[in-house]
Order: sequence, then C-alpha cells, then structure tokens
Amino acid sequence: MDSSSAGQEDDRERRGISERASLDKRALRRSFLDNLLYVQGKFPRLATKNDYYLALAHTVRDRLMQRWISTAAAYTTQCSRTVCYLSAEFLMGPHLGNNLINLGIYDVAAEVVGELGLDLEDLLYQEEEPGLGNGGLGRLAACFIDSLATLEVPALGYGIRYEYGIFHQTLSDGWQVEKTDKWLRFGNPWELARPEWAVEIKFGGHTEQYTDEHQRLRVRWVAARIVNGVPYDTPILGYHVNTANTLRLWKAEAPESFDFGQFNRGDYAGAVTQKIVSENLSKVLYPNDEQEAGKELRLQQQFFFVSCSLQDMLRILQIQRIPVEKFHEKFAVQLNDTHPSIGVAELMRLLVDEQLLAWDTAWDITCKSFGYTNHTLMPEALERWSLPLFQRVLPRHLEIIYEINARFLDQVRIRFFGDEARIARLSLIEEQGPRYVRMANLACVGSHAINGVADLHTELLKQDVLKDFYELCPEKFSNKTNGVTPRRWIVLANPRLTSLITETLGDGWIRDLDLLRGLESHIDDAAFVQRWQAVKRANKADLATHIERRLQISIDPDSLFDVQVKRIHEYKRQHLAALHIVALYCRIKANPNIEMVPRTFIFGGKAAPGYHMAKLMIKLITAIGDVVNFDPDVRGRLKVAFLPNFSVTNGQRIYPAADLSEQISTAGKEASGTGNMKFQMNGALTIGTMDGANIEIMEEVGKENFFQFGLLTPEVYAWQARGYRPQECYERSPALREVIDLIGSGYFARGDSSVFKPLIDVLLRYDPYFLLADFDSYVACQDEVSAVYKDKHRWARMAILNSARSGKFSSDRTIRQYCSEIWNVDKVPVRLLSQEDVEADFMQ
Ligand SMILES: *Cc1c(COP(=O)(O)O)cnc(C)c1O
Repeated sequence: MDSSSAGQEDDRERRGISERASLDKRALRRSFLDNLLYVQGKFPRLATKNDYYLALAHTVRDRLMQRWISTAAAYTTQCSRTVCYLSAEFLMGPHLGNNLINLGIYDVAAEVVGELGLDLEDLLYQEEEPGLGNGGLGRLAACFIDSLATLEVPALGYGIRYEYGIFHQTLSDGWQVEKTDKWLRFGNPWELARPEWAVEIKFGGHTEQYTDEHQRLRVRWVAARIVNGVPYDTPILGYHVNTANTLRLWKAEAPESFDFGQFNRGDYAGAVTQKIVSENLSKVLYPNDEQEAGKELRLQQQFFFVSCSLQDMLRILQIQRIPVEKFHEKFAVQLNDTHPSIGVAELMRLLVDEQLLAWDTAWDITCKSFGYTNHTLMPEALERWSLPLFQRVLPRHLEIIYEINARFLDQVRIRFFGDEARIARLSLIEEQGPRYVRMANLACVGSHAINGVADLHTELLKQDVLKDFYELCPEKFSNKTNGVTPRRWIVLANPRLTSLITETLGDGWIRDLDLLRGLESHIDDAAFVQRWQAVKRANKADLATHIERRLQISIDPDSLFDVQVKRIHEYKRQHLAALHIVALYCRIKANPNIEMVPRTFIFGGKAAPGYHMAKLMIKLITAIGDVVNFDPDVRGRLKVAFLPNFSVTNGQRIYPAADLSEQISTAGKEASGTGNMKFQMNGALTIGTMDGANIEIMEEVGKENFFQFGLLTPEVYAWQARGYRPQECYERSPALREVIDLIGSGYFARGDSSVFKPLIDVLLRYDPYFLLADFDSYVACQDEVSAVYKDKHRWARMAILNSARSGKFSSDRTIRQYCSEIWNVDKVPVRLLSQEDVEADFMQ
C-alpha cells in the first residue's frame, strides 16, 4: 500500500464512511472484485465482458448511493423548494462513463480495470443506452437534469420507463429497417424500483355528481379501469458535488397479478389479457419526433406519467407535513412541450375532487405551479386530441377543461369585447369542423410562464404561433435558449480536447464554460494550435476506423469531415446536403482532373417508421454513396457514409471528429437545435441558415467564423405569400438542373427512375422547405468552406474561436436562467452523511 492511499483510508475511517463508498483506488479494486464474485456470481475465467461491465457499474452505484441518500436527507430535512421536470422523454445516454467523470474517478477506474487486463472504454461500450427519447427534446431533458444536479438545485425528473425505447436502426440495401430496442434485456444496474410508492391511475368510465356531508356539490370519477404506476428511480449525480438528484420513471402494472373476480368466474384468459393491457401503457416509446396522429395509447401514456408524478408530489408534501395549499411554494413544475400538459387539468382534479379545495384556490395554485416550454414552430405539430377520444379516456378531465375554458373565455370576452374570432382562436376547444382539445392552449392558460428555446423561436411564438396568448399576457413570455452539458459532450466524449484545455486553462471551465474564452489568448501560440490540430486529427482517425469497420469503406482522416447527424426530416433538409454532394460529383464527371478539397460526408439519424419521405431521404443518401464511393473518376475525393443508428453513444464518437457542422434547416422551422452547440464546443465550424440557435452561435463566434447561407425567415414568409414556384429556381440554375435531372434519371438507382420520383416531384412542384430556393446560396457557401479549409492554419484558428466562444451554450447557463427567472429556486448544498449520521437517524 502506498502511503498516500493509506492516508486516504485513515481519513475515510475517521469520517465514518463505509468502504463501499470510498473513492480510494484499493477500495475500488476490492469492490470491483467483490461485485464480480457476489453480484455477478462469476470468477474471472468464466466472466463475460458484460459481467465486468456490471461489476464496475455496481462499484460505481455503491458510491452514488451515499450521495443519493445524503441528498434525500438534506432535502427532506430542509423541506427544500424543488423543480419537477415533466418530460415524456429522457434521452440519457449510457450512465457509467458519466458517473465516473462526475465522481472524479474516471482515470483511477481505468487504472483499476487496466491492471486486471481489461480496457475501460471497452467496458463502457457494453452498456445498453436507455434510448427513452426521440432526439433533441429528450436529450435536452437529460442535459437539464445533469445541470440541475451540478448546480446543486433540488430537482426530480419525472417520465416514463418505456420497456422499449427508440427503435434500433439498421440499413438493408440502403433502406431503414427498425428493430425493437430491448435495453432492459441484461438488467439495469442504475435503477431502483420503489414499489412502496406505487400509485393508482384511473382511466375511462363516467362521472357522477353527489352532495358531501357538508352539503357541497362534488364530482366523483367512476373509472372503468385502474392501472398501477410503479416508480423506478435513477440517481443523477452532479459534477464534483455531493448532490445526486432523482430521475423517477413510471412503469405501468396491473393492480393485481390476477383479477381474481374474473379468474373465479373461469375467465382466466380474460384476466391475463387485462394484465397485458395495463402493462402495454409503458411498453413502447412512440418513434415520431414532431407529432403523433391521435393515438389513444399515447394520450393514456401522457396522462399516466403525469398523474403518477402529481400524486407523488402530493405524497412528498404529506411526508414533509406541508399543507396542500402550499403546493406551488414547494414545487416548480415544468412542462417539456405539451406532452405533459394534461397535468393542468389533473392537478385541478386532484386539488378539487380529492383534496376538496375550492375551485379558485386550486386554480391559483395550479397556475403558480406550472411553466410551459414550447418546442415547435410548425402549427401542424401542435398537439390536439379529438373530443370523442378524450371523452372516452378522460371524462372528468374534459369537464374540468370545459370549466377552465368557460372561465377563461369570460375574461377574454371582457378584454376583447366582440372579437369572436380571437375567442375562437384562444379557446381550449377547436370548434370548426371536428372538435379537438388543444393542448398548447391548455398549457398556456394553466401556466404562469411560457418560454421558447432560442431568441428567434421565442420571437416567432410571440408574433405567430402563440400570438393571441402573447397579446393577452405578454408578461408570461420569456426566452430560454437551449444548452447542452459540457460534462457529457466535451469531457466524456472528447478526452483529448479535455486534456488540452485543462492543461491550458485549468479545469474550472467544466463548471463555468465561459472560461473557455481563455483559449482566445492562445490563438497565436503555434504550439497550442498544433496540439489543437493533433487532437482533431486523432478524433477523426478514431471515427474513420469505426466507419471502416462498420461500413467497409475507406476514409481519409485528412479529408474535410462534413457531418449532418440529427433526426431525418424534410425541414432539416438532409436532402439539400445530398444535392450538394451530387453537384460536386457532376463537377468531377465533367472534369475528372478538377482540383477539389477531399471531403467525407457523414450522415446519421433515424426516420419515423411511418414517414415515407424521410425514409426515402435515407435511401437517397446511401444510394449516392454507393455510386460516389466506388466511381474511379472520383479518386477518393468524395466519400459518403451513412452511419446507422444515430444515438447518444454514437454522437459521442461523431461530434468530436467533425470539421463542419451542417445546420441547414429552412429558416423559421428549427426551434433551437442542440446538436449545433455540441459541434461548436468540439471545435467544428458551422455551415448554417439563420434559424434557431444558429443565429446566437453566429452572434457569439462572429460572422467571420461562421458560414451563413440561405433565405432569412422574413424572406421565406415573403416567398410563401407571393406564391413560391420552385420550378423557376430549377430553370434558372444550370447546376441545380443537372443535379435534379441526374437523380430523376435513376442514375443512383441502377437506372430505375421511379425510386426517387416522389422526392423529386415534391421538390419541383411544392418544395415546402425551400431547398431549390436555397440551393445556389448553399453551394456557393460550401465552395467558400472548401477554400478556407485549404488553409489549415486559418481553419484551426476559426475552430478554436468557435470552441472558445461556446460558453453561452452550456446547459448550466440555461438552467441558471430557468432557476432565477421562472422557477425561483435556490441551490441546496449537500453534506455527506457519515455512518454515525445514519445510525443517529434510527433514534429519531
Ligand atoms: C443532440 C442530439 C439530437 C439533437 O440534434 P439536432 O441537431 O439539434 O436536431 C438528436 N439526437 C441525439 C442522439 C442527440 O445527441
């Protein structure tokens, strides 16, 4: 034993900390071996890589427990004000690496397993990532709970424990194929079931009026069916703090393992069917990124997790002996999009029907509790539920929504006397044609704060999507530009860059990303710039190796890595990038000796399984790759790689290896984007439209360090108003014509001109996302990119400035703003409990 670790051991014993919580290297090694033997039940020769992963995961979990318990004790004792983040999605990514970093034991863990002949990275890749989200929205929730813990703010993340997360994507002949995501197959060491805190959730049936013992008129909801919600808790540790908050995900279960009534009547199969129906509720995540057309199960999922969560909050109030009238003083409840917005009606039901509060008191509490974050600018993506469906699933909530609406519209009528059109627009019920409940309107009326997720997005909400609500209550609106956590997206994903920055600036930047500005003063330091280039080059070589293994195509790490990874959507315009590749290919075919900066185009992203055009976009990209990658005329100057199954795990390999970040959505369509921020932090330059947070990125880095192109939002609106004719763009631009004609001819489909016809037809006839209008501007901008890339030193300086100026886009900044401007919540530092503290608690 070396003397320093002996000293740490003494210190640990003096402080009364269990060996199971010790961060000392010898203790870690002992725990790892113990867990292999006593948890996995294996001796090394029989152990699989997964056994080693689980042994290490349990070793880390033990260390989390002490912090988790200490955090719960601090919050309970101090009755701390708490943020409840309600989100139908949490796209967490693997936990092990992140926990090692936040505990500060990544390197020592690598040594421990290394001395046993194992490779830490290899073990990390064993973890099946919990893909409980579709994309940006779910990943934002994950970044937010990381920042809340790091900032030591009491918080609970509430969501659904889907048994199957986002599907696993494979490609077959270039077409997307979906496989179920069995992420729980080998167990989940990070969660703890808490069946003692299960709650009952009602569905369907009818309502009855009755008079209670105080002669008050009340309503009773007689449900047709009851489902149990069982919480599964995962600790979320902050970076280098004792705070470990909770992610509480609800699993649906049948109330009894059997309906004995039905069983005794002989209907065994019927009883089992009922059980299956109940458990279906949390079975699968809906794989649509933007909207889901009227699926009853989806509404049931939303109500299920929201009711579970609100009932859980009431239980917490009771334990802490806080009267229910102070609900809004104890909790700040944030709605991540409209998915949890049924919470407004459900909290009213719980307070009025079950806690017997007066309507006005309950309404006051409800409005003061909720905040609503909008995530979309596409009016067709605003959630609404058909009235018959809503009535069938949630009859009592429909009554409550009618009552909220009647009282709300009465006020509107007084403010906007005679303006019936405005009243119809503000109503919680859509009345023209088939009737719908409008969830965004419910969220707006029931919240004291409404926010967009980037400056432009918030402005467009005020002017357009939520204009009527803005005119009614401008004071409710604010902007909270999204951010991402630098712990996962730099420290974990890019260890080489982390070392370089920390050696240059110290490690303060990890908690205070604005300190990255310090890199600017090293921009003329040749040795620093050289090391920067070496980091990027090594990351690119790693990704090239990965792609070569996966796709059997050779990749030149010195080529420009041009990357677009995100959900596949027409508005995100992956097909615009595809048109550009074809344009370059045409130049080569016309002049095989043309000088060209070698590029590797890397794509990744999932298409919703029912979104045919998005699936065709994937096929187009892979089909172009199949030609370009093997055409001898190209001589390796262009490579196209579609990496299947884009996920958090794959993102961690890709973002750090990018030279160029493609953020090319139609202006006015992308609410914020967060991928753009991950690229920027890792030193990629952006080619982008003036959309979402791209605008703020350009403001931070300066125009001269950003490749801007394309129509601005007002220009898009003007073209729409004038009547946009894409055919004219096609006729005016020879380069565009050549590209469209080549794809249309079937050149990339073995001569079959029917394959891409639907895509080409949409572009030439409607082009709702203005690809043809932006094509020339995009290609010219890409030529500028290539010209700059030829000057490697200039490129590196620009990349360094991008990274140095990315501080604004830490989710720590975003969360500080939510805390002070919406939630009014403070940090609560946590003191680690010792063994004696725990023993003393028994005496209480
Ligand atoms: C960050 C992230 C996204 C969001 O990317 P955008 O470019 O903002 O659309 C989607 N999926 C995953 C896995 C991510 O990590």
